[in-house]
Amino acid sequence: MSLRPVDSSALLIDGKLVPGSGGTFAVTDPATEEVLGRAADGTAADMDAAIDAARRAFDGTDWSRDHAFRARCLRQLRDALLGHVDELRELTMAEVGAPRFLTAGAQLEGPVNDLGYFADLAESYSWETDLGTATPMGIPTRRSLHKEAVGVVGAITPWNFPHQINFAKLGPALAAGNTVVLKPAPDTPWAAALVGKVIAEETDIPAGVINIVTSTDHGLGAQLAEDPRVDLISFTGSTATGRSVMAAAAQTLKKVFLELGGKSAFIVLDDADLATACSIAAFTVCTHAGQGCAITTRLLVPRERYDEAVRVTANALSGITVGDPRERGTVCGPLISAKQRDRVESYLRLAVEEGGTIECGGGRPEGLDRGFFVSPTLISGVGNDARVVQEEIFGPVLVILPFVGDEDAIRIANDSPYGLSGAVWGTDPERVARVVAGVRTGTLGVNGGIWYSADAPFGGYKQSGIGREMGVAGFEEYLETKVVAYPAT
Ligand code: NAD
Repeated sequence: MSLRPVDSSALLIDGKLVPGSGGTFAVTDPATEEVLGRAADGTAADMDAAIDAARRAFDGTDWSRDHAFRARCLRQLRDALLGHVDELRELTMAEVGAPRFLTAGAQLEGPVNDLGYFADLAESYSWETDLGTATPMGIPTRRSLHKEAVGVVGAITPWNFPHQINFAKLGPALAAGNTVVLKPAPDTPWAAALVGKVIAEETDIPAGVINIVTSTDHGLGAQLAEDPRVDLISFTGSTATGRSVMAAAAQTLKKVFLELGGKSAFIVLDDADLATACSIAAFTVCTHAGQGCAITTRLLVPRERYDEAVRVTANALSGITVGDPRERGTVCGPLISAKQRDRVESYLRLAVEEGGTIECGGGRPEGLDRGFFVSPTLISGVGNDARVVQEEIFGPVLVILPFVGDEDAIRIANDSPYGLSGAVWGTDPERVARVVAGVRTGTLGVNGGIWYSADAPFGGYKQSGIGREMGVAGFEEYLETKVVAYPAT
């Protein structure tokens, strides 16, 4: 079976692949600007039907109570997707603009394999715990604690790492016994729709347990957040949209789980190997063309070595291969859309207006006339209060800042509305430990250590979000707690 839509992809509602009531919309290759095909354009009525199906599947079946069946379904889905992995890789490179090497990790194979981690959790998790006997109000009582699915989950996802984020929600939400309505971003509908096709045609996942509504209408996300039949919203996207999702969900006081933006610091202490650290920082900011919330986009270096660090980093950025994501040597692919490229270019102009210097890059790469490419760029000469330092640019753009002493580095790192991730490089373990303890973020890599993994909770402090995704903590976001008390005999 080929996954590539012949004419258009479909919505998945109540176990059936159905056309969108709003017709179809174009899916564009960001590296070539060619139309790859079309996706189903779901409407408010389609979303209503999807929520209804998810509600009925939760209330009317024993999906939430049959842990072994859910584990089997998740493994079946993982294996079915792995059976299509080469085709999915081609489609991911085409639709998302993800460079080939990333599809072996977070842009495809990593999250597909992680479904197995959540299947294992469904089986191994302590669904019931004996709290023992107590005598509240003089009445001898035996208590037990039960963990149960929250209910219907509305999952709203962005375009930058669509498989990672779709599966980091579907995996734990389903393993925990919920039913789901997934609303992916309009820029990457196929990444979700093709999973819907595999679910419908190659798994035993019951009708209504997963519903997928692709659409050009962002309002469908707001509809999910407001609907009283939805018990939990799991949202990944910008901080601005996260705020409005939280406000919409407040009407029905549903649980809200938010993964939002970041402006993470890469701190190079004065005893670190500066050349190695700055080269890694340069490579990192080009990961998926900088379109990653956890990417380190502020490079903090000792003031006395600032000029040297600027030189090394600009050199490394200039050596990064930009181009067609399908080419094996490509590190930095395109931005997702013309709109996103405009946004990044407006920040490059702003950097100059704010008194900064563009040390390398600063615009479109030569020789790439088609595709939404931006050259890897280094901005120097701005303070931490500049907008290009405070705001998320979401492109291959690094800002380099000087600090004086470790405490100053911590202060600058924390002088941000965000607190998602970061990196620390240094050789003295005690100094590194002090900096690690001082930086207020949800993940930190030390000397190149990688925190990304199915069992490692990911999420942010401050305006980077609420809650954690992945790991046991991520699984438990999708659970309620019930205490049951019996007379002790
Ligand atoms: P976005 O916030 O514009 O959109 C995200 C999703 O929300 C899309 O599916 C969109 O259709 C939907 N949406 C838009 N308006 C909505 C509303 N009012 N109510 C409900 N849903 C609505 O984000 P984007 O441009 O797709 O993605 C880029 C942003 O996502 C960046 O800011 C990035 O940092 C962030 N992001 C965060 C993480 C994380 O885990 N922290 C991961 C990836 C991306």
